[in-house]
Amino acid sequence: LEVIGAVEPTVAGAIRSELADQRASLKLIASENYASPAVLLTMGNWFSDKYAEGTVGHRFYAGCQNVDTVEKLAADHAKELFGAPHAYVQPHSGIDANLVAFWAILAQRIESPALAEAGAKHVNDLSDQDWANLRKALGDQKMLGMSLDAGGHLTHGFRPNISGKMFHQTSYGTDPETGLLDYDEVARLAREFKPLILMAGYSAYPRKVNFAKMREIADEVGATLMVDMAHFAGLVAGKVFTDDFNPVPHAHVTTTTTHKSLRGPRGGMVLCQPEYADAVDRGCPMVLGGPLSHVMAAKAVALAEAKLPSFQTYAGNVADNAVSLAEGLMKRGTKVVTDGTENHIVLLDVSSYGITGRQAESALLDAGIVTNRNAVPRDPNGAWYTSGVRIGTPALTSRGFGADDFDRVAELIVDVLSATTPTNTAAGAPSKAKYVLADGVAGKTRAAAAEL
Ligand code: PLP
Repeated sequence: LEVIGAVEPTVAGAIRSELADQRASLKLIASENYASPAVLLTMGNWFSDKYAEGTVGHRFYAGCQNVDTVEKLAADHAKELFGAPHAYVQPHSGIDANLVAFWAILAQRIESPALAEAGAKHVNDLSDQDWANLRKALGDQKMLGMSLDAGGHLTHGFRPNISGKMFHQTSYGTDPETGLLDYDEVARLAREFKPLILMAGYSAYPRKVNFAKMREIADEVGATLMVDMAHFAGLVAGKVFTDDFNPVPHAHVTTTTTHKSLRGPRGGMVLCQPEYADAVDRGCPMVLGGPLSHVMAAKAVALAEAKLPSFQTYAGNVADNAVSLAEGLMKRGTKVVTDGTENHIVLLDVSSYGITGRQAESALLDAGIVTNRNAVPRDPNGAWYTSGVRIGTPALTSRGFGADDFDRVAELIVDVLSATTPTNTAAGAPSKAKYVLADGVAGKTRAAAAEL
């Protein structure tokens, strides 16, 4: 920090404050974690200065032998850890990994057959008419994914993301009674809609998904099964999700982030079956530029950590702690979506406290509990104010929290929510954002959290 501070003291100060803030609060954001010092240090070095467009052994720049070493190692670790035939570790983020996957699926399913039909090997060999036909075919595809309010992600075909502009999207939700995924309904929609991509995976669904069933549905309608395991990759790596619940053997293409439950550097990866490998490896130059070699090196380190037996213990604890947290909340009268959890996520419905998700998120933050507001299924308050709060166990489990600690965390959350009341706007209208947290609760909660 001294070296950084000598150049730009504001940045050194912000880094110091970030560390202090993270230490002084309970980090319960489901998509966050604490990477190890080895992972963090691997990101800050001379690999950052190197250009390496291309793939291992096939680069558009000279002098890439050391990048080749780390990229190959990261891919080999990923293949072994997840039992995947192929791994592409260049995507800079989860969104980039999904973008690579979308284009790879379009190339494998639409472009290649269209080229063959036109007697061409490459798009440059196409006549103007063939090219127009291909563009139309590429731009006329469908995706069936989980709806946002049921826990799906923006990249699963929603308008604000390019996936919603590339694909015609229809979504499946969850059962209104149980809050659980209804596979018969997914199959019905798939038969009716006939998607090119059946997308599975989520950001806020607190249950396991049966990927073997999803594959059966995909096969029945000729869809490619793509699974975005960004959130739960750590539970797959740590063997909490096995057999039908491990997406990698069932999906044609699996994407992930590396920084959430997997506890690596901020980045993405694509794992796939052999028939998609060539198209996936064309991620650069299709949608990526030069890879972040320093981050690929850090992915290799994180994946080596995830291969250790201690990571399986960690992943098991992440899931057990989520159960303890959910039970701790429910026994104190809080509504938990689906009445429990089978992964690292607990989704609270805070409407019984008479507040919105936004008010709950802000009051909890005042008390040093960092969460994020999240829509619940069929949320009357929409995606901005919401009626829910999403809580995750990966980060505090990395800090060594156990089941009893999470029961105490549940108690602290309930204390804060019970002490939060909505207030009116300046004009006197009811507000979905303004709130009052009773005097003394924030300080008392922070002090209690510091003891954990
Ligand atoms: N996919 C899922 C399921 C996610 O939850 C997220 C991020 O929260 C992403 C993709 C995007 O990851 P990134 O923020 O690294 O682009």
